[in-house]
Amino acid sequence: MSPFLNTYNRVPLTLVRGQGTRVQDDAGRWYLDAICGIAVMSLGHQHPQVTAAVHAQVESLMHVSNLYSVPVQQRFAQALMDLFGGPVFLCNSGAEANEGALKLVRKHHFLKGESRPQILVAQMAFHGRTMGALALTAREKFSRGFGPLPDGVVALPDAELAQAVNAQTAAVFVEPIRGEGGCICFPHLPALRDACDRHGALLVYDEIQCGLGRSGTLVQQPAPDIRTFAKALGGGLPLGAVLAGPHLAHVFEPGDHGSTFGGNPVACAAGLATLQEILEQDLTERCRVLGEKLRGGLEALGVCVSGTGLMQAAHLEQEAAPVVARMRDRGVLVCGAGPRAVRFLPAFTSTEAEIEEMVSALAASL
Ligand code: PLP
Repeated sequence: MSPFLNTYNRVPLTLVRGQGTRVQDDAGRWYLDAICGIAVMSLGHQHPQVTAAVHAQVESLMHVSNLYSVPVQQRFAQALMDLFGGPVFLCNSGAEANEGALKLVRKHHFLKGESRPQILVAQMAFHGRTMGALALTAREKFSRGFGPLPDGVVALPDAELAQAVNAQTAAVFVEPIRGEGGCICFPHLPALRDACDRHGALLVYDEIQCGLGRSGTLVQQPAPDIRTFAKALGGGLPLGAVLAGPHLAHVFEPGDHGSTFGGNPVACAAGLATLQEILEQDLTERCRVLGEKLRGGLEALGVCVSGTGLMQAAHLEQEAAPVVARMRDRGVLVCGAGPRAVRFLPAFTSTEAEIEEMVSALAASL
């Protein structure tokens, strides 16, 4: 019997090592990693600065909980706040970040004495798999058999979200670039911002997959009330964050929310080193430029392409899974984004030649 509960369909590949943009299997074969642990390893594997920061932190302090202040956690939260606005709540994953955002939304309206039962989300959104995040995901495929979930979530097509905001709406959760739903850019952020302002609803950007430069834009505008981050945030270690606008700074009080591991010092050290590298090397711009090359290469194959930066999907006229498998056989790791889309989430540190290698692998696998 497998030692795992039956939650994953793993492909027949055992990975034992990563170095830069490549990973190696247990038979010694190297693969170009164009998934990066599902948008996590933005600087590639064993990035020297990240590895050094982790080693140094492990050797000084691994964990003390949030009963105490820890310098690296403080520096990391400050860096996030300086960049994106804050203050910040640190947790361990994307679902947990969205749970925190949901609680912040509810408490904000509670303090204002408002009853706003409705949360608006996009159809085909993916916000995670814990009960609150699953409710926000609002897709039968993920939630079947797990009810009852927190209620009040209404899922609408992108084009209908802004006009649906009203006095009953507590918040709108949206991925600026939808990840699991096929790398689709949300085209109506200004209209959504405007509608939320007019009706007193909060706007939440789930930047868990598209954030931290991957889309070619570091700070998504117009500014939302809350941003959630995870995945690449921890440079390969589990880390999530809820960033609240200053007007929400006093909503939570001690005891309202928390996490034993949230903002773990080693994860924060990795996250801080990653963020510094993204800023110092202007890797957001690199994502934008490489993204154009990726798009050009994919479009030249005659497939429909969506997404932006280093978060793009090729939409096929055939099932994606066999194509993904053939690309793996050719030494390039990608994943699906829905049944007929192949998703590319390469490292920000990829070279132009590696982008070409990804495109050629797809061309040969169609
Ligand atoms: N939100 C988005 C946009 C995601 O892509 C994901 C994961 O794929 C999540 C939330 C959930 O993150 P996690 O798997 O870390 O809980």
